[in-house]
Amino acid sequence: MKYDVIIIGGGHAGTEAASAAARSGARTALITHSFATVGTMSCNPAIGGLGKGHLVREIDALDGIMGRAADMAGIQFRLLNRRKGPAVRGPRTQADRKLYKYAVQQFIRNQLNLTVVEGEVGNLLVKDASATGVVLTSGVVIESAAVVLTTGTFLRGLIHIGDKRTPAGRVGEAPSVALSETLERYGFKLGRLKTGTPARLDGRTIDWKQLESQSADEFPSFFSLMTDSIVNRQIDCGITRTTLASHRVIRDNLHRSALYSGAIEGVGPRYCPSIEDKIVKFGDRDGHQIFLEPEGLDDDSVYPNGMSTSLPEEVQVEFYKTIPGLEHAVMLRPGYAIEYDHVDSRELLPTLEAKRIGGLFMAGQINGTTGYEEAAAQGLVAGLNAARRASASSAIEFSRTDSYIGVMVDDLTSKGVTEPYRMFTSRAEFRLSLRADNADQRLTPKAIELGTVGPERRFRFEKQLAAFDQAKLLLTSLRLTPQEAARHELHLNHDGNRRSAYELLSHSGIDFARLARVWPQLNAIDSKIAELVEIEAQYSVYMDRQKADIVAIRREERLSIPEFADFSKVSGLSNELRQKLLARKPRSIAEAQRIDGMTPAALAILIMELRRLENFSKNVA
Ligand code: FAD
Repeated sequence: MKYDVIIIGGGHAGTEAASAAARSGARTALITHSFATVGTMSCNPAIGGLGKGHLVREIDALDGIMGRAADMAGIQFRLLNRRKGPAVRGPRTQADRKLYKYAVQQFIRNQLNLTVVEGEVGNLLVKDASATGVVLTSGVVIESAAVVLTTGTFLRGLIHIGDKRTPAGRVGEAPSVALSETLERYGFKLGRLKTGTPARLDGRTIDWKQLESQSADEFPSFFSLMTDSIVNRQIDCGITRTTLASHRVIRDNLHRSALYSGAIEGVGPRYCPSIEDKIVKFGDRDGHQIFLEPEGLDDDSVYPNGMSTSLPEEVQVEFYKTIPGLEHAVMLRPGYAIEYDHVDSRELLPTLEAKRIGGLFMAGQINGTTGYEEAAAQGLVAGLNAARRASASSAIEFSRTDSYIGVMVDDLTSKGVTEPYRMFTSRAEFRLSLRADNADQRLTPKAIELGTVGPERRFRFEKQLAAFDQAKLLLTSLRLTPQEAARHELHLNHDGNRRSAYELLSHSGIDFARLARVWPQLNAIDSKIAELVEIEAQYSVYMDRQKADIVAIRREERLSIPEFADFSKVSGLSNELRQKLLARKPRSIAEAQRIDGMTPAALAILIMELRRLENFSKNVA
């Protein structure tokens, strides 16, 4: 058997990689343990969120699967950070597990150029430092011009529940041991990480009546340009909190938690701590919040979000009894922690191709990330590049200035990870321009150029772009003086300047609906387009400033930072950034730029400070 591209693993990275490679025209094989588990959500039944929602919108803009599948499976759409600026809003939906899996499987089934092979890969074929195929543990050999590894938490996976340990890739699924050994044999440096999941509860035994509830947004924010409406009934989820009694149970049994007994050597995600971690690190407070998320429309299983643990099963049963609403809840499955091998992501190029073996790409949890969205976004990059390598085309890279995908790949390949990496908006220094709302404008033209976009998306994108341009043109052409504005009760500086409707949108308190009262012809603009133009107008002032900062930074990137430079007293920098500068001690502006949370404005301040120091030294000399 011979293919252009082989993808190992049918998780979130693997399915996105397989679809991207096949869309690029490569004859692709997706090899995975079982087709029935393709698209499985190993942990929380939700897609998107802060930073993660941006990644899903970008995957969609590149014609990937995740956004469409999430829209098809969504049962509670919510735009997080709604009260904050559009740049940091995060679209999220809770998903019906079965519907999500079904949607992903349908995309894989219907994808041209794509064949699914069930089996376990144990060995890689390598010739002249290039990947040439794989060998299944059954002995079957499959050749290819490029291979993408997306094995998730399966590499030497080990599940911990208290002092019970079970080798597994996920609950009920065998780990991949042979492949870990193969990677070591080829000289890859492997590390150990851990993640965890909470118990699942029987929703019929939860006393919902005594709980606060959270509903879906009235007007859902979809992930995909291809979605016109939602199909599923939207549900509420419940909110409860741990109590002092729960904390006591956890403290009394801390020595039995795999995490605290020393049984786990892997590092866990700091931003997604287990409940025992929260109690130890953040104390009792007035309880820790738990979101009770139903796992599906016709599924009684409930996911208690915020309660991942590696305590023994009987302790888990005990602490749920101390939580309001859960006193009589039946546990369907205990929570567990899992440790697994990952590859040092600095072994990879920005295309996600391994430096030591040409044609071997890696994506997802194997690279030290955590989360479906992070995995899927890497899968897309690896799948596109594997296909391009197979057809001897030039590689595709994403940059920190064009996407969150670019931010993540750069972080991984240049800095590596010391704990499971997840996306945050603060990691993107150009976040004012990398918004969820403009992902299509930023990335679809690139995908069209690559030839990986289907005709329906191209049609929709071009139609949307034309409507956007037309609306912007109209708003720029409608103008009024401060005096004319006053007649419409719009109070502007009386400077005699005529301002366009587009400019007025950047004034606080003036939105599209307000302008439509002045110029009724604006009512003809589609509400979605109106929203896009409104956001762009609000950001245009900052964007001009950001562009100027970016030009200055590019010019000054090589500027070195002397050892004696002290940024602790420089005004204009946040305390957090001062701390990070102190801890990391960057040697150049390029290095300082890579500090997570660094913004173009903060870099401009650093550059000014360096120039000041330079002049000071010159004057002293
Ligand atoms: P996976 O989705 O794990 O897919 C791996 C695929 O590879 C599977 O289909 C498997 O069958 C296949 N495979 C593996 N080895 C081989 C082989 N040798 N041959 C053929 N096929 C193979 N993320 C969060 O964001 N928050 C959380 O709280 C969180 N908690 C988690 C808790 C647990 C217990 C687990 C298991 C995961 C958790 N995650 C969490 C992580 C999330 O599930 C992963 O980040 C995501 O699924 C990674 O996607 P992936 O494609 O890299 O791997």
